[in-house]
Amino acid sequence: MRQRPATLARRGPWLAMAFFLAGATAAPGQAAEPAATAWAAARGPAAGPPRILGAHGLGCIAGAVALPPEGPGWEVVRLSRNRFWGHPALIATLRDIAGRARAEGMPPLWIGDLGQPRGGPMPWGHASHQIGLDADLWFALAPRPPRPAASREQIDVPSLVRPDGQEVDPARYTPAHARLVQLAAEAPGVDRVFVNPAIKKALCATHAGEPWMRRVRPWRGHDSHLHIRLRCPPGQAACQDQAPPPPGDGCDASLAWWFSDAARQPPAPQPQGPPPRLPAACAGILSER
Ligand SMILES: [Zn+2]
Repeated sequence: MRQRPATLARRGPWLAMAFFLAGATAAPGQAAEPAATAWAAARGPAAGPPRILGAHGLGCIAGAVALPPEGPGWEVVRLSRNRFWGHPALIATLRDIAGRARAEGMPPLWIGDLGQPRGGPMPWGHASHQIGLDADLWFALAPRPPRPAASREQIDVPSLVRPDGQEVDPARYTPAHARLVQLAAEAPGVDRVFVNPAIKKALCATHAGEPWMRRVRPWRGHDSHLHIRLRCPPGQAACQDQAPPPPGDGCDASLAWWFSDAARQPPAPQPQGPPPRLPAACAGILSER
């Protein structure tokens, strides 16, 4: 999932306050929570074999590896963010999807943020992407020549969804976009693929009942990119999966809800309480030289 930098002005101070409070309220003997900016400042991964601690939305990773800036069927965008790190299983999955897309004649996939070198919370842009198992793929499938890395810092990918959010834009959404979602959802180890509710609705019109549709989940945004999430890889005992998606293709009342008045209301305020904390061992992963 991804938030636009424009929301920073609102989230930034709130996040800073949340981390300040986490530190301020730490129990005696309990270390203060490292700030998201500290995770963003890590330039490279913590050494050792891949080790995931925590959950997609609150965790960290040692032994992450980099997705190369380009390869057969992909180009990483916005390399300057240094968010092209992930568990080797994620890198292998992205390589696999890109290779399949290329074999079907798609242009090089624009791959956006994976995670920071040691995972952890980001100061802006995403609530998840914290344990090296999440990545964004842009819906940019019009033919185009390869672009050098520097020119991939600024990309402009239009929304596939009408401004009212009810339907995809038929001038932009094509079967190739549906095919990319399918390639992502059918890749081994994938837990979920998040797309805008209007895109899920369009997929339901053409692919209802197909097993991979269970893993395609509607979420806000995600109208110009999809978000792929892997389950915890084998052997990662400290990695916490979320519950599997409910059975069925998701072309049901749970999708209709996204187009209801209730979905347009601002989210209910969260119950007050101390902010959830990263696994304690993440501090060691962050501080390792
Ligand atoms: Zn994402």
